[in-house]
Amino acid sequence: MLKYYNYDIVFQEIPNEVTLAISITNCPNRCKGCHSPHLQEDIGEELNENRIVSLMDKYVSAITCFCFMGGDRTPQKIAELANFVRLHYPAIKVAWYSGCAKLPDGFNNKDFQYIKLGGYIEKMGPLKSKTSNQHLFQVQQDGSMKDISYLFRTF
Ligand code: SF4
Repeated sequence: MLKYYNYDIVFQEIPNEVTLAISITNCPNRCKGCHSPHLQEDIGEELNENRIVSLMDKYVSAITCFCFMGGDRTPQKIAELANFVRLHYPAIKVAWYSGCAKLPDGFNNKDFQYIKLGGYIEKMGPLKSKTSNQHLFQVQQDGSMKDISYLFRTF
């Protein structure tokens, strides 16, 4: 079961978007220096279609993007819920922050506009660092992924 710990409206995770970011728990990655170790625990409330509807009832008019923060243990469930968001809220972009270095084999990215890949490696720095191993991609209509990490790295 996919669960989440909390959510927030954020402005920096996806450039030029106002994003409802859902922090998903039971993260299987074990990044050294993890910024949120509690997200490695199997805690929180179930994130399902009904929960998404209740969140959207409150926030859809205030946001431009819905982002799954985590969910690497069940990527197919993330893809299913992304499809639900895209079909029911077509004006809202869909994003996924994965801690994996690449998409799972056969993963269908068609319901996402943005995907972040890469775990946290302390010495390489976070996404905004020029040396970071993490990258944010914009998914193109043909499914190819354009690296737009430079939008974080303008200094
Ligand atoms: S992916 Fe994020 S939550 Fe998971 S271990 Fe790495 S830093 Fe922590």
